[in-house]
Amino acid sequence: METAIPSPISQKIDELWSEEMDFLQEISRFPSVSGKEKALQAYLADYLISELDLEVDRFTPDIKEIADHPGFSPPEWGYEESDVVIAKQPGPKDPIGKSLIFQGHTDVVSPEPLSLWSSDPWVPVFRDGKMYGRGVADMKAGVTAMIFAYKAILNAGYKPGADFMLQSVVDEERTGNGALASLEKGYTADGALIPEPFGLKAAKAQIGSLWFRISMNTAVKDKNINQVVNVVERSQVIISALQEYEKLMNERPKPDAFKDMPHPVDINIGSFHAGDFPSNVPVKAVMEGRVGLYPGQSINTVKKELEDCVLKAADEDPWLSKQPPEITFFGFHAEGAEMDDRSPFFQTLDDAHETVLQRPAERSVLSSTTDARFFNLYYDIPATCYGPDGGNFHEIDEWVDLNSVKQVTKIYAEFLARWCGLVPKEA
Ligand SMILES: [Zn+2]
Repeated sequence: METAIPSPISQKIDELWSEEMDFLQEISRFPSVSGKEKALQAYLADYLISELDLEVDRFTPDIKEIADHPGFSPPEWGYEESDVVIAKQPGPKDPIGKSLIFQGHTDVVSPEPLSLWSSDPWVPVFRDGKMYGRGVADMKAGVTAMIFAYKAILNAGYKPGADFMLQSVVDEERTGNGALASLEKGYTADGALIPEPFGLKAAKAQIGSLWFRISMNTAVKDKNINQVVNVVERSQVIISALQEYEKLMNERPKPDAFKDMPHPVDINIGSFHAGDFPSNVPVKAVMEGRVGLYPGQSINTVKKELEDCVLKAADEDPWLSKQPPEITFFGFHAEGAEMDDRSPFFQTLDDAHETVLQRPAERSVLSSTTDARFFNLYYDIPATCYGPDGGNFHEIDEWVDLNSVKQVTKIYAEFLARWCGLVPKEA
């Protein structure tokens, strides 16, 4: 296949490689767990201005501006330490191609339990062609690749032939409100690529995600009942009900994209808190978790089904029926999404992939949510996730394959060249 990328750009990526790895290592040292992204965002904003000569807008997501949007997820936290960074390169007056966004999130999930890591998650290390550390794969390697794809184009003497943006967003791991806020501010384009680490495969569908909290209380105030009931033991009733609901969802007909997945929809109980003393009977407990949903399933339907199944189980239990558990929803209210993978956007990505890797393009179907949903569901902007290869996301010893990072950098440069066109930098 003929390449649209002038070969000097690919050479520049090779030349910049050790600088790119230093950059990845540097940004992976920031402990930017969701809600604490600000220091890293400041570092990136400074880099994009001073090194890449981009116009940068930084802003804090304003809940009031997005609260009525159907894609909004209600946070129980503020965004004082989470600002979005949008870096813009306006295209020529008469663009020769289509406008483009490369977008990545800089928040990462908790590295706990720290003691299980082979080395400090905030001191990224190279081992056997991989880098290890919290967030290196999800998704600081992708953020690095998208920035260096653009940098290589600049260093080779070119710039995009249409409006181009590098977007660094926040709170992707709990809500996606950083991405939503930037879209609602008008930072849109004709297409968006997100280098999430799904192994050089373009995502054509993704599961949605809804967070729930179930609070139980077995401290029955009835003087005729002379028995203290252990809420941890009774919580088995609720856990079984959730497992039943998960089973039911996976037995239903699956949307086409998920046909080959044996178990597309998961319910995960992510935290459980109860009790404070070995010789006391715990009577209050709170569990928090996440339930998946298919594209096309409404958030409200899943809320109602989950409530019904938990409350029905509680009602059949002699103790939980006296004080039914309280169910609330917070954080992720993310719908599932399907992408049109026969669109010119995917075709361009497939061409870029085949040109750089000399092998056919592949697809992925995601059992988790990503920011790609906003572009596709609410703004009619073709978007997908395509990024490096890695593993142990959200687990101990997270890693990213470094060769795949270089490949993604080249594929992003190739995509940009094809989608936006390139013009001489000094034109
Ligand atoms: Zn991610």
